[in-house]
Amino acid sequence: MGHYCRICGRTRPNEKFSGKGHRIHVCKECARKPKEERDVIEQQEEIFNYLKQSHISKKNVSRLRVLASSSNPRIAELASIVHEVARVKPYKKRRLKVLARERRDLLQNLEETGLILAHHW
Ligand SMILES: [Zn+2]
Repeated sequence: MGHYCRICGRTRPNEKFSGKGHRIHVCKECARKPKEERDVIEQQEEIFNYLKQSHISKKNVSRLRVLASSSNPRIAELASIVHEVARVKPYKKRRLKVLARERRDLLQNLEETGLILAHHW
């Protein structure tokens, strides 16, 4: 039995985690990575999670606006796409149908970035 690290995505033996690492699900090796690097991985996961939710709330939208101005181009791109999706169709139900009809460009962005996988998750 191991423990899941949400940064490297591996399930690792318990001794690879410190007490705090256990609580926050980050292995010792990943805890040593620069904060910036960990933040990028976490923020990317956060953005994907918004698409898994049945509804992207107003609070999520303001958070996405912050992430969209990230200095990391990948994060900024992902966040601005999801921000726009939330503006057009905050509810997950029928989202892809609506996008296919009204915003093909946005649907294409979701496909190209792999964000679409989070929708189907
Ligand atoms: Zn790790």
